[in-house]
Amino acid sequence: MKLILLGTTGYHPSQRRHTPCMMIPRCGVMLDAGTAMFRAADYLETRELDIFLTHAHLDHVIGLTYLLSVLYLHPLDRITVHGDPQKLAAVDRHMFSEHLFPKKPPYELRPLAEEVSLPEGGRLTHFPLEHQGGSIGYRLDWPGHSLAYVTDTTAAPDADYVKKIHGVDLLLHECYFPDAYADWAEKTGHSCTTPVAQVARAARVGRLVLVHLNPLATEDDPVGLGVARAIFPATELGDDLMELEF
Ligand SMILES: [Zn+2]
Ligand SMILES: [Zn+2]
Repeated sequence: MKLILLGTTGYHPSQRRHTPCMMIPRCGVMLDAGTAMFRAADYLETRELDIFLTHAHLDHVIGLTYLLSVLYLHPLDRITVHGDPQKLAAVDRHMFSEHLFPKKPPYELRPLAEEVSLPEGGRLTHFPLEHQGGSIGYRLDWPGHSLAYVTDTTAAPDADYVKKIHGVDLLLHECYFPDAYADWAEKTGHSCTTPVAQVARAARVGRLVLVHLNPLATEDDPVGLGVARAIFPATELGDDLMELEF
């Protein structure tokens, strides 16, 4: 199964990265709808699209307003946006108010079911994360391969969510800050390098890919990859348009 990281930063785009939007083209599954949404049409393989939102902070939902461009390039018969009911209602009411973006794309909103069936025998489950206003982590399992997506939370190896992602082949985890900014991570509800690597080790995942990186950090290694690899060797930095097999 192939996952494409369309956007790997948080908060706002940089010259190098767009805000979160991850996609499994073969299944028409998308995780978050950030500014990288405009790239989706180049990769879509299905006529149906299921978008799972972690939460409704703008860097994760603004791309819903770009769906008209996606539809222009790649017609879709159905778009379903899944998420927390209150957050879906807020997006629908506020972001698509007539004053902000009056042309609502033809999506249907669906409160997140406890478990969602995915094409090819897959299933999606979810769990709560600590973040201002709350965020949702996702786990996607198919026979023989699995993935978890954890963003907008403060990582801790003893956090409840670590059990939920146990043993996945691929963990996408946010890492907004290097360890030197651990206090910033704590106060903004984000993660820094060491606890993220400890989470990957505690959960015994196969591979860790760091996403939701700080857009202000433009260097090749903004988080201290060596620090992460000393704890969990199979760690990589995510980059926009990176394709990951899992
Ligand atoms: Zn974010
Ligand atoms: Zn957030």
